[in-house]
Amino acid sequence: MEKKIVMSGIRPTGFLHLGNYFGALRNYVRMQDEFECYFMVADLHSLTTHPDTKELKENVHRVLSENIACGLDPDKAALFCQSHVYETSELYLYLNMLAYTGELERTVTFKDKARQHPDNINAGLLTYPVLQAADIILHRASLVPVGKDQEQHLEMARNFANRFNHRYDEIFPEPHAFNYGSDLVKVPSLDGKGKMSKSENQMATVYLSDSDDLIIKKVKKALSDSGPTEPNSAKPDYIENLFLLLKLFSSEETLQKYESAYNDCSIKYGHLKEELWTDMIRFISPIREKAESIREDKAYLKEVMEKGAAKARASAQATMSLVREAMGLNYY
Ligand code: ATP
Ligand code: MG
Repeated sequence: MEKKIVMSGIRPTGFLHLGNYFGALRNYVRMQDEFECYFMVADLHSLTTHPDTKELKENVHRVLSENIACGLDPDKAALFCQSHVYETSELYLYLNMLAYTGELERTVTFKDKARQHPDNINAGLLTYPVLQAADIILHRASLVPVGKDQEQHLEMARNFANRFNHRYDEIFPEPHAFNYGSDLVKVPSLDGKGKMSKSENQMATVYLSDSDDLIIKKVKKALSDSGPTEPNSAKPDYIENLFLLLKLFSSEETLQKYESAYNDCSIKYGHLKEELWTDMIRFISPIREKAESIREDKAYLKEVMEKGAAKARASAQATMSLVREAMGLNYY
């Protein structure tokens, strides 16, 4: 049986964080052994909100290094840069003819980003889901490991793929958001407002490059309160968030200890936080050190990008000849 195809990407807009790890990277690493995988640094997507390219090269190198440090193997998966696969732009153009401005204007991420960047509401921001759909279906991928924030984009990618199939020919499988065994993940920010992010909420986001001291400082500052006063009461969102983080990093035993302490009102959030940062540091520090050394090896990064682009372009070119044929763009 042919292997299913997997595609996903991360924007080079800053340092990778725990949300990127648990929403995306953790799945990439597991999927590379089971499927045919394409993982990219989404540099074109970053231009929609980060038009200044002074730090782009450094950020591309950083994302590649952090991907590899988390366990992604460039010999198993194609790890490449979005802008190296020129076929993406061609498919993006064709898909734009199948996307309606109304549906694009209603996208939650478009509305959020437009609010955050009121002086730069560019057309690229509006058509972001079209470019993302092109990235995915260019490899005829059906599985897309992403976090919860990308759910709506995936629904749109499915719509665009289906529209193409109905209008022209059945070329594209339906792409679906993927997470092993459960719902999509959202790693909340430590201030209880929204999700951890590369370009927002930076003091409330824990990055894979944070020093041990900075991790301690951020966790100490995480929003909490003096604890419940009634046994077995419901947890406020920001406390639920601390438990979610504990669940990601600490043992089942530790989690249960604090669940019981919460339920009998004996919980001390200072103790919970200390166990949390200790377990976070144990997880993050080896990744941070590995990523730093990979980042210094520019020759290796170049080799990775070249190899990845060659694999991704071969797959893209095969799809694009089917696309042109289906669309009737073949005149001799
Ligand atoms: P930016 O702020 O620049 O948009 P980001 O942190 O949202 O950066 P992206 O590059 O947009 O990161 O997304 C990369 C992947 O990480 C996507 O699959 C996205 O769903 C996932 N992701 C991002 N933030 C979180 C989070 N807090 N929890 C779970 N998954 C996340
Ligand atoms: Mg994002």
